[in-house]
Amino acid sequence: MTLKACTLYARNDLRVDEIEKPDRQGCEVLVAVSHGGICGSDLHYFQHGGFGPVRVREPLILGHEISGTVLEVPPEAGELAIGDKVAVSPSRPCHTCHHCSREEFQHCENMRFLGSARTFPHVQGGFRSQICVPAEQCHRVGAGTSLAHAACAEPLAVCLHAALQAGDLAGKKVLVTGAGPIGALCVAVAARGGADEIIVTDLFDFTLSKALQMGATGGINVRTSPHDLEKYCAERGLFDVVFECSAAAPAILGAIAAVRPRGTIVQVGVAGSLNLPINAIVGKEITFQGTHRFHPEFAEAVALIDSKAIDVSPILTQTFSVDDAISAFEAATQRESAVKVQLIFNP
Ligand SMILES: [Zn+2]
Ligand SMILES: [Zn+2]
Repeated sequence: MTLKACTLYARNDLRVDEIEKPDRQGCEVLVAVSHGGICGSDLHYFQHGGFGPVRVREPLILGHEISGTVLEVPPEAGELAIGDKVAVSPSRPCHTCHHCSREEFQHCENMRFLGSARTFPHVQGGFRSQICVPAEQCHRVGAGTSLAHAACAEPLAVCLHAALQAGDLAGKKVLVTGAGPIGALCVAVAARGGADEIIVTDLFDFTLSKALQMGATGGINVRTSPHDLEKYCAERGLFDVVFECSAAAPAILGAIAAVRPRGTIVQVGVAGSLNLPINAIVGKEITFQGTHRFHPEFAEAVALIDSKAIDVSPILTQTFSVDDAISAFEAATQRESAVKVQLIFNP
């Protein structure tokens, strides 16, 4: 059987290469990758060759949202067995640096995150037929759980970590700006957290319809109905919590206007420098809170998917064979018709 990898050589130069069977070292587990979800960061690498100061400087196998089946296990791999279905966490902190010693693993100085060009040599990613990963990165799911669903554990973990920043959501009015995969999964987390009202905004009716299926109570198309959010700006803002998932300046400004005094905006989307009305942030005592990746939340995300407490199927909009990786990446950029696009490596 030919093993393949989806490798980025430079901006807009994505190739499906044949690869050798990876060599399993020590306590690593060999996984036959089943599904790989294309993330916004993969698209950034593909379209722009990186983001911010992060640049692709050598061929990089993309991908960090993967699931698969265990092919080989070392004796010390705990409960894992050949044939187990697993979600693979892309997060590998060093466990020894200052941040790790404070259990803030997402800030690890020596983080080796799958499919990342932040360090050089780059950490090669998971868009390949087979991968070796430490056993601690393999989270088993039940035989009845779809591997397509299991591959959504990573973005769901991002949203669980974001929700942690906002505190208890029970009974709250929540705004989610941006109905891509992260926005839609933030909706699901808010719904599960008992939020009373969950309004989601986006530029496209298609993505809004998916967010409604994930548990939003209302959707606003800010392109076709730009004034519909205004009623939530009454009394200096009505939302208790905003998950800002678009990283678009108008959405961030809208969030500042629509959050209530002493409310919280969790900035999930990553943007560069922006002009923000500091007077409003100060005057309304807004908590403007960042959130970065996740660590323990990955296991929690796997459990929620495995138990079907959160059903991710509405956001899975397209699936492509790895051989059609370029079409898959192009489909993923079409926000009017795609939420989460996945590659399949071992049909
Ligand atoms: Zn991701
Ligand atoms: Zn560390």
